Amino acid sequence: MERDNQKKVAIVTGGGSGIGLAIASKFVANHIHTVIVGRDEEKLKAATNQLGECCYAIPCDVSNLSSIPGLVDSIVSRFGQIDILVNNAGINMKKDFTEVTDEEFQQVITTNLCSVFSLSREVVKQMLKQGNGSIINISSMAAQYGLPKVIAYSASKTAIDGMTRAMAVELSPKGIRVNAIAPGFIETDMTAKALNADPERKQKVFGRTPMGYMGETADIGEAALFLSSDAAKYITGVVLPVDGGNSIGF
Ligand code: NAP
Repeated sequence: MERDNQKKVAIVTGGGSGIGLAIASKFVANHIHTVIVGRDEEKLKAATNQLGECCYAIPCDVSNLSSIPGLVDSIVSRFGQIDILVNNAGINMKKDFTEVTDEEFQQVITTNLCSVFSLSREVVKQMLKQGNGSIINISSMAAQYGLPKVIAYSASKTAIDGMTRAMAVELSPKGIRVNAIAPGFIETDMTAKALNADPERKQKVFGRTPMGYMGETADIGEAALFLSSDAAKYITGVVLPVDGGNSIGF
């Protein structure tokens, strides 16, 4: 039986904009108490104003790994439980392979991968006490096929898929489901930046997307709501493409 959403608590990292905002919006519309995390306080404030009283903002830079245990402690003290974690915060960097510095590579890996490990570890400690929970990692097409000029991003997202499976086999027997969503090309600031400056790449994206258009952030929100709900109670360890067929396009 579906648990009462009014008692559910979710964390969405990067919930102040783009895909994260759409996921938070879908959760709030379904009466899930949703904590959004990001670095930019103004962005978070605008999001909480938009989403209303079921949405709570906590500013935190998740690439500062030492701040993560404190972040989780403060959420548990305030809400008493964590039912859903969506690891969505991420950065991209498009550069020729030989131009990427070690520092830049490390920054992308720390933000997109190490923070997902650290935050999940702390949240899982709480979920194990509860005996249930759902974790959703936001992956990418960059983990499914080779994309040029995004070496660190591709490495981070491919590791996310592996970590999703490893977490799922270890944690599912304890009541914690772990899944990933691999968005295709979704209209956000991140894709606008990556594609508008590169018409050839844009053409290629549409050329191999059978549906022929970019997805909306709400499409990812719907998938996240489903995977986090009891409707998906027998689903764990999957990487679900939400991509208009891009991953199987010719
Ligand atoms: P976006 O609009 O740039 O959103 C990224 C979010 O992450 C922002 O809200 C940002 O908030 C937050 N963030 C970044 N670094 C952070 C940090 N160190 N600490 C805390 N929050 C941080 O991009 P998006 O397109 O919605 O991307 C969201 C996720 O989807 C990413 O993981 C991305 O890789 C993935 N994705 C997107 C697409 C697409 O087509 N858009 C496709 C595949 C995968 P602050 O700036 O306030 O920190």
